[in-house]
Amino acid sequence: MLALGMLRDRGGVHSFHVPMPVIKEADEVLVRIKEVGLDGTDFNMVRLGLQDIAEDRDRIIIGHEGVGVVQAVGTGVKSVIPGDVVVLTVRRGCGQCEPCLHLQSDMCLTGLYTERGLHKLDGLLTGFVVDREENVVRVSPELKRLAVFTEPLSIVEKGIDELRTIESRLPWFCPHPGHEWRAPQWGGCKVALVVGAGTLGLLAAAVIRLAGTYVYVADIVPEDSLKARLTAVAKAEYIDARSKTPAELVRFCCTPTGKLDIIFEASGAAETAVRLIPEMSRNGIYVMTGIPRGDVRIQLDAAELVRRIVRYNQVVIGTVNSNRRHFEMALGHLGHTPQFHEMLRDMVTRRVPLAECGRLFEEPRGPDQIKTVVEVEPWEEDRLLPGPH
Ligand SMILES: [Zn+2]
Ligand SMILES: [Zn+2]
Repeated sequence: MLALGMLRDRGGVHSFHVPMPVIKEADEVLVRIKEVGLDGTDFNMVRLGLQDIAEDRDRIIIGHEGVGVVQAVGTGVKSVIPGDVVVLTVRRGCGQCEPCLHLQSDMCLTGLYTERGLHKLDGLLTGFVVDREENVVRVSPELKRLAVFTEPLSIVEKGIDELRTIESRLPWFCPHPGHEWRAPQWGGCKVALVVGAGTLGLLAAAVIRLAGTYVYVADIVPEDSLKARLTAVAKAEYIDARSKTPAELVRFCCTPTGKLDIIFEASGAAETAVRLIPEMSRNGIYVMTGIPRGDVRIQLDAAELVRRIVRYNQVVIGTVNSNRRHFEMALGHLGHTPQFHEMLRDMVTRRVPLAECGRLFEEPRGPDQIKTVVEVEPWEEDRLLPGPH
């Protein structure tokens, strides 16, 4: 069967044929891949030649945002049956540390984990994969056409879950008991700035807005761009950050209430990410998810930075990857928020068959490109389900 990936000694992406995988253990599941989303990491990996191949291999299949259908299951599998739509988690634990031994490999302590399509382990841009049941998450059939967003949304879910847990240090945020950080409508009386209107930024804006927070989204594209329009669909307010310094950006967000409670960084623009730290409000939290590439050197007033963090009780957290629980949270949000389905469908700006997707890596990604979806095998026509937008 066809696969797309990277080779040890050559740049770019390459197609090759790989053998059909087979179930060998009782807890394994054979999944027929239908769609795979590509993200900035995939494009950067290819563009910068950052292939991360296992020592005993000379190639890696890429792709880590996959949706498929269960083709067969091992004798011990209980949570899925053939025909079920499923998504796969990305990281496989080290098997040694306590987080990994308790389905929390996203917090692995040893760094000896592997990741499908990213780090040592083959990804999903191929016809079939076999994985253990614990890495396979069932999707309601009516969500199959949106499930390609489960993995990026799981990253957002983890970041938001962590920020709520940390900020619950402040139970008396406002006079309303329903606005407590762990309450379902936790976002009431709060203001957030999401930096970056790509896939992660738009998903974060949508989820934070859904909780009742007033959300600004900043990016460096014009106000009539697709990203700005989709920000409005998420019921958030777009800011063209090209004409604002980080200080002006935060001041703008503070206009309604005098403070900015949450910053969610999803752009990977290192200098802006750091320059926003001294602008944070009292008791504010700043979640970083973007991963910058290369070196960026800047000068800043370190004393002022540290003074503000200490005096204002500030929190800056980094968050990477996600575990099964975050995948389930993501699927819960996909299922219960039909108002965002329009945004998700419009976020898919390119859809290409697997056999043709190699060329995507040679084309420049324009400012209106958001999510690229590779069709490994088209969904069968089903008139009961909404079609592709
Ligand atoms: Zn571990
Ligand atoms: Zn309130």
